[in-house]
Amino acid sequence: MIQLNNIHKSYNLKTNPLHVLKGINLSIEEGEMVAIMGASGSGKSTLLNILGMLDEADSGTYTLDDTPIVQLSETKAAQYRNKFLGFVFQSFNLISYKTALENVSLPLYYQKIPRKERLIKAKENLDKVGLGERIDHVPSELSGGEKQRVAIARALASEPKVLLADEPTGALDTKTSYDLMALIQEINEQGKTMVVITHEHDIANMCKRIVHLRDGVIVEDKKIKQVKAKDHVE
Ligand code: ADP
Ligand code: MG
Repeated sequence: MIQLNNIHKSYNLKTNPLHVLKGINLSIEEGEMVAIMGASGSGKSTLLNILGMLDEADSGTYTLDDTPIVQLSETKAAQYRNKFLGFVFQSFNLISYKTALENVSLPLYYQKIPRKERLIKAKENLDKVGLGERIDHVPSELSGGEKQRVAIARALASEPKVLLADEPTGALDTKTSYDLMALIQEINEQGKTMVVITHEHDIANMCKRIVHLRDGVIVEDKKIKQVKAKDHVE
């Protein structure tokens, strides 16, 4: 599903270069659930931005679902992002004056999906994340865990091949984090490929594989026995 080959990325190339990714090789198969771990500043978000086509590597190759991702125009990159990728962020990134239903259906509007179909899809995905009863609430009327569920529903509504999550539990307390991981595991069990950035070991252990970044290099990449989040809630 994902192949990164010798990816390098620096910031401030012209002024004061900071070499952040130093030859990343990473291959992720369909249906995997991979944690990307590493200390703050190790390059996790930079890597995710490249995976998410929000930024481009300086060198190396990236192939996503057999499609080479190279020097895409803004339009093409946006098309591929919509088709392949869903994003979930630590800070939820919901629109504060829109309801859960509107937040989930908005990306579908930009994909020119007719209104009726948008609303059906948005409702279906809110049901899937357990928020079927909260569709008319605005973010300030939802808890942190619920907001992140809305963000997940929004990401899923476009039916991406891969879900990229940057510290999805970073703003949540432990119990809420485990609840959310139970949902993410369930979505992964239904076949969705997941990449989860975290610096928390308990969250990483709920994935199926841990890739450890240190100073822009992968220092460890191992399959693990997945801890089931469900066993740690209640
Ligand atoms: P992590 O997500 O692991 O904390 P990042 O990928 O965000 O790490 O950052 C890696 C390094 O790159 C840090 O030293 C950070 O300050 C720097 N950095 C990140 N984004 C930029 C940017 N847009 N411009 C310049 N430096 C950046
Ligand atoms: Mg980061």
